[in-house]
Amino acid sequence: MQLISLPYDPSALEPVISASTLSFHHGKHLQAYVNNLNAALPGTPYERLPLEDIVRKADGAIFNNAGQILNHNLYFTQFRSPRQDNAPTGPLSKAIKAQFGSFEDFKAEFAAKGAGLFGSGWVWLSSDAEGNLHITQEPNAGNPVTKGFTPLLTFDVWEHAYYLDYQNRRPDHLNSLWSIIDWDVVGKRYNG
Ligand code: MN
Repeated sequence: MQLISLPYDPSALEPVISASTLSFHHGKHLQAYVNNLNAALPGTPYERLPLEDIVRKADGAIFNNAGQILNHNLYFTQFRSPRQDNAPTGPLSKAIKAQFGSFEDFKAEFAAKGAGLFGSGWVWLSSDAEGNLHITQEPNAGNPVTKGFTPLLTFDVWEHAYYLDYQNRRPDHLNSLWSIIDWDVVGKRYNG
């Protein structure tokens, strides 16, 4: 398993996510999960499986480290530089309006579930086989692939994702993320 490269410059997400937070989060935290998984995999039945299959099948330390790699790969590749009036388009936009009433209502529910998750974990938007959307809270290394869903969008609510920039103000951090979501990437995850 290799550490993914970021598809943007380390300062590209400022002021929402500082270059300092990004470099620690990607270069130290995610690198540690990669190192831990690479140390744990040899000689196990998961050694040659794709990452998503490891997350679906493993438990214990292998699940935790593989889950965190999958989660962060999806997280880091869903961002681009800040822009105003940032919103989804196409089929994903229609599905969000149909299920949540409006994009604003969706954002409020998603951010509230992230703010309300006790301890460390992730809030996810995912889709099921019928194309229905789900917002779920996943503790620790959880990913909706274990529920049979396709992960689309995620906010990392571990403190390491925001503490350098926002200290204890998790809700402020989560609300700031809407301006850097790359909805082209998220929409492609939905359209398959
Ligand atoms: Mn993280």
